[in-house]
Amino acid sequence: MEEKTVQRIPKLFVFDLDDTVWGPELDFYMNKPVGFLKDIEEILLELYKGEKFKGAKLAVASSSGFPARGKKKMKDMKIRDDLALEDVFSFVEIYRKEKDRHFAALKSKSGIDFSDMIFYDNQMNNHETVKKLGVTCVFCPDGLDKRLFSKSLENFPSKEGKIIT
Ligand SMILES: [Mg+2]
Repeated sequence: MEEKTVQRIPKLFVFDLDDTVWGPELDFYMNKPVGFLKDIEEILLELYKGEKFKGAKLAVASSSGFPARGKKKMKDMKIRDDLALEDVFSFVEIYRKEKDRHFAALKSKSGIDFSDMIFYDNQMNNHETVKKLGVTCVFCPDGLDKRLFSKSLENFPSKEGKIIT
């Protein structure tokens, strides 16, 4: 058996927004202050700039009833002084639908196969839907830290639809 020495890197990194990238959830009526969760700024910056991830793209899959509000928040929130959250994403899908719909759109727009995608989301029901497509799913119930991010890369692609936790 040939030893596997080269780690396979996902071609598309897909993120949920509410309670994965930022929190608390955007609320159209309350307008509560929202901030980045855990290590997400550092992780997104590494994906966007890091040599290891050259060629990989980033995307958003958010099932929100307020897409304009989400897009404005992505413009306003800065990862660095000169870099807004929206700048790092090549594809943005925000609408109130089951997330397999977002992924079908991402596949058609990016030309990237589901097997080359990895998905970070705080809700298990979304993973149950998306894993059936063959996407590697990572459950991050209250945001993504560097430890879980590393683990997700080590376990990519996941075997037999196993959700990485
Ligand atoms: Mg969420």
